[in-house]
Amino acid sequence: MNQALLAKIGWRLHIKDEGLWAKIYKAKYLKGHSILDDFVIFRQDCSSTWRGVLHGAALLRKGMLWRIGDGGTVKFWKDNWVFDAPLNQNDSGVHICDPDSVISSFYRDGWWDMEKLRAALPEELVQRVISCPVGFNSGIQDAQIWKFSSNGIFSVKSAYNMVFEGSTCSDVAWTFLWKLRIPPKLHIFFWLVFQGKILSNEQRVRRQLSLDASCGSCHWPMESILHILRDCVKAKKVWNALLNSSQSARFFTMDFQPWLRVNLMSKIVWADGIPWNLVFVFTCWYIWKWRNHYVFHGDEELAFDSIQIITAAVKEWFKTSNVSFTKCAKVEAWFAWEPPPAGVFKLNVDGSRKVAFGHIGAGGVLRDVSGDWCSGFAVNLGKGQIIEAELWGLFFGLRMAVAKGFNNLIVEMDSAIAIQLVQQHDSLTWHPLASLVSSCWQLMQQLEKCSLHHIFREKNSVVDRLAAWSYNLDLGICVFDEAPSWIGTSLVDDLLGVSRPRLICVG
Ligand SMILES: [Zn+2]
Repeated sequence: MNQALLAKIGWRLHIKDEGLWAKIYKAKYLKGHSILDDFVIFRQDCSSTWRGVLHGAALLRKGMLWRIGDGGTVKFWKDNWVFDAPLNQNDSGVHICDPDSVISSFYRDGWWDMEKLRAALPEELVQRVISCPVGFNSGIQDAQIWKFSSNGIFSVKSAYNMVFEGSTCSDVAWTFLWKLRIPPKLHIFFWLVFQGKILSNEQRVRRQLSLDASCGSCHWPMESILHILRDCVKAKKVWNALLNSSQSARFFTMDFQPWLRVNLMSKIVWADGIPWNLVFVFTCWYIWKWRNHYVFHGDEELAFDSIQIITAAVKEWFKTSNVSFTKCAKVEAWFAWEPPPAGVFKLNVDGSRKVAFGHIGAGGVLRDVSGDWCSGFAVNLGKGQIIEAELWGLFFGLRMAVAKGFNNLIVEMDSAIAIQLVQQHDSLTWHPLASLVSSCWQLMQQLEKCSLHHIFREKNSVVDRLAAWSYNLDLGICVFDEAPSWIGTSLVDDLLGVSRPRLICVG
């Protein structure tokens, strides 16, 4: 845990924290290098804090992955970018010509150089490479991001999960802790409690920080964590006011770890639908907080309205964190594709993924005011995630519109997440998809007018067909200047304004 917390300092150095401490460390120890560089090693004369930072950085390095932008700095063979290990360590028959070549040397005409890729890698790896969300024209530089979070930003929790994933059962035994819906600071507090790492007086004596292990409140000779949180006279008073009679019998007799576990995993509802484990968590936290106040500031008694403070905090958190799952009434609604206004072109795009093998593909079509086919495409993208397929669909569609000079464009797609990402393009700094999203954004900027809209998939059936058909292709794009015959009736349906039904929520 300590290492995960220390890794956070390393991360802040990595993201160029502007704090004074960061400037001092950078000037003193990093001297222009990155905290992620392997050769940043211990020096005999470095401070103990810096030693700690390096200890954390060792963990940080294990969780970093290259997100590829312009591909100008990352080594195709030597860096971690497609997988956890570099491609030169892949034993499935790779052919390395130049071990130091950068990724952009495999780009050609704004996409991958398929010939070069296939000469270097077996087909299975080519399929993984071409779906990677790189930024061919994003203007974004390559960056190292944290691979264990969805937004690419380091978090102590994800670092902790990384350390203990697949480790021995004693470690796994409290991974449930992170799944509790409680404030993040309480996750960390309980993690430390579980480890016996919060500083009770017993701990202080053990670490030679103090000679007196007794409790400052009730003078019990050994102030353990359990004593602070449960057995101290003060704590008991609080618990007795909160516990119902059926709970209290066992509550005060259990050993430390089982006591934590039973209460944290409890399914008992306390009052007003609030689960007991939430009350338990907040109560421990407040007891600990008040104990520290007493020890360090000499504040006399527990706040006399302690129960009120605890219950108010619990209720507040419960209210804000609890998403209501009330079922909505559904009605059938009908949706039809609509042609764009005169002088405007409409681009529909869609992505597709085959669950069984992870193959992804995308399709797009450009149509005019009369609903006539101007151009379309299908692209086989190898293997990847559905959100990658959606964004690549948008990328190729926009590129087609730019190339054809369709300067006034309405874009429609049924992936709300993809649209959200594009709208937030400038705040995605460390996001794994930032390069690809930025590529799409750059293309939109090249058009005089371009707006992006979410539609239900019932309105998007032509491109749904195109995306599904992409699996018949060799890897890469296939452009259709005219509507292919296998597109079937969906194109004509769109022309005629035929509606398709969908169940939607009301109220
Ligand atoms: Zn005590």
